[in-house]
Amino acid sequence: MKEGRILIVSGPSGVGKGTVLKEVMKNHPNMRFSVSATTRAPRPGEIDGVHYRFLDKPCFEDLIARDALLEYAGYADNYYGTPAEPVLESIAKGESVILEIEVKGALQVMSRRKDAISIFIAPPSYAELRRRLYARGDTAPEVAEKRLKIAVEECSHAHEYQYIVVNDTVEQAVKEFEAILLAESCRSEYNPINLKEEL
Ligand code: 5GP
Repeated sequence: MKEGRILIVSGPSGVGKGTVLKEVMKNHPNMRFSVSATTRAPRPGEIDGVHYRFLDKPCFEDLIARDALLEYAGYADNYYGTPAEPVLESIAKGESVILEIEVKGALQVMSRRKDAISIFIAPPSYAELRRRLYARGDTAPEVAEKRLKIAVEECSHAHEYQYIVVNDTVEQAVKEFEAILLAESCRSEYNPINLKEEL
């Protein structure tokens, strides 16, 4: 069976990663989201094992010590990491797995897994990103400005990814994302055709 692929997706807060990925997932029933481990507290509505595996610091550090994470990073005073086993199990079954992770972790996966596909979702402009962050309505101005500063740092790494999708309109971003997946599925190294066997 053909192995699934690991898809690394990063982009600043407010860029619309979630919306784009939700649309993409609708057309790809064989695609899974990796459930990350984190030491941050659950937000209202978040379910342990669905949105994240919520762990305390010693448990997270135990995962690090056991080399059970594909990558991990510190972000906003908490640990975030990708448990390796479920990802490897999924790709062995032919399912592709989306890792929606921040830049430091993304770079670790890129260097450990040369077959991973990396996509950075960028805003059309910082002015538009600011507008989107404020439009959420649940973010205080100082929090939005702090996220914007982090966004500038994150976007400075966009060219370390194989692909950049600018989320100007969701429709166009989804189209570009789908085009990347289609092209990747046609790459010669993932298509072991055996025409000779038919002769
Ligand atoms: P949030 O706390 O808002 O859910 O996530 C904060 C940041 O952590 C986001 O940029 C998100 O993509 C990133 N993140 C979520 N899970 C992981 C993970 O497993 N590893 C890394 N490196 N970053 C993650």
